[in-house]
Amino acid sequence: MPFPAGLEFSAAGDDSRPVRDLVRDFTAKHVIPAAGAIDESPRFPAEIYREMAAAGLFGITVPAELGGAGARALDYLHVMEGLSFGYASIADQCGLVELVGTLLAEHGTPAQRERYLRPLLAAEIFCAYALTEAGAGSDLRGITTRAKAAPDGWILDGEKIFIHNAPVADFATVLARTDDGLSVFLVDLDRCGVSRTYREHKMGQRGSQVGGLAFDSVRLPPEALLGEEGDGFALMTSVLARGRLGVAGLSLGLSRAAITAAAEQAESRSAFGRPIGANQAVAFPVADAVTEYRAGFLLAEDAARRLDQGRDDAPTACSMAKLYASEACVRHANMAVQVFGGAGYIQGYVPERIYRDARITTIYEGTSEIQRLIISRWLIDTRGAH
Ligand SMILES: Cc1cc2nc3c(=O)[nH]c(=O)nc-3n(C[C@H](O)[C@H](O)[C@H](O)COP(=O)(O)OP(=O)(O)OC[C@H]3O[C@@H](n4cnc5c(N)ncnc54)[C@H](O)[C@@H]3O)c2cc1C
Repeated sequence: MPFPAGLEFSAAGDDSRPVRDLVRDFTAKHVIPAAGAIDESPRFPAEIYREMAAAGLFGITVPAELGGAGARALDYLHVMEGLSFGYASIADQCGLVELVGTLLAEHGTPAQRERYLRPLLAAEIFCAYALTEAGAGSDLRGITTRAKAAPDGWILDGEKIFIHNAPVADFATVLARTDDGLSVFLVDLDRCGVSRTYREHKMGQRGSQVGGLAFDSVRLPPEALLGEEGDGFALMTSVLARGRLGVAGLSLGLSRAAITAAAEQAESRSAFGRPIGANQAVAFPVADAVTEYRAGFLLAEDAARRLDQGRDDAPTACSMAKLYASEACVRHANMAVQVFGGAGYIQGYVPERIYRDARITTIYEGTSEIQRLIISRWLIDTRGAH
């Protein structure tokens, strides 16, 4: 059963139709058929990423002259939702490339862009975005990875954990402490002194490889510095709003997949001589979920438009969209498992995978609590209080 027309996407105008059609067709052809098998024997689906690059689905908001699609944040939201409807891990790769691609497009030198950005958008190389450490997750002030100035560049020491693509990436943007504060470095992961410490075994999104990176006296040339020394925190956080909008889109795609599966099951499965969906106890949770999905989509589209307009309140709007859509998709996945009954708990049925894939959305790219902190600080000024 297709998702009911008019609900699939909400208030975006006709100018977003070509992107929505492109991602819908791509997902149907390349993502949906592969999702179950990638999850069951987890692997990095490089062949899908090469197809995505060929279809122009990396670097959605990166200017066309730099190799991106030159589209809007609104289009990026639709791409993330559409890919995640097929498989969240595929959308997650799109989101990662968007973050690193935006950093390179906005702060890279022409040489850095030539070396990293073009091949990244062509899926010839893969990236990682490395902030988190054992003592620095929600609170990045705890970062201890250090880059010391040396006569011929920098020497990098430290360890990052929970890094998406760490086991497979060719380079990483690494946030490290320097004399002037925090700075970002472009680190080729085949450099002497770099090690990929482990690969995590995750609850869900198993097509995404996550692991650690250790740097032991890694020598970096001067041109490894991205932007200005000391600007690292501002650089990395400048793309966080976009990242949160992306996770909102990814969460909405998971919601749509959960709702679609639940509605199909409610129609096709019978008990006590009639479809289970004839019981309001089954049908009403689906109705609530689709209403929340639509509310979340409108919230996310509004945040995307604010981002496209460069408005000051865009980061808060993106936090609201991420908070709402991620918490909703966890509820919707749970609902789909219940509607499927025992089958919802069995590998091979979509709700079982979505239930695991959805859980991380309220944690990465800033936990729900951190989003609430951002939103409440926007509303409530307690700076004068003791
Ligand atoms: C699958 C996966 C992929 C990831 N990918 C990346 C990546 O590519 N790059 C990267 O750098 N990181 C990545 N991360 C790390 C992720 O961003 C962090 O796990 C996340 O930001 C939370 O940090 P933490 O795990 O240290 O939790 P903590 O910061 O220890 O938080 C623990 C709990 O305390 C709460 N808490 C903390 N402070 C407050 C507060 N002030 N008020 C209220 N509650 C609070 C949190 O909300 C949370 O519930 C990834 C993590 C996972 C699991």
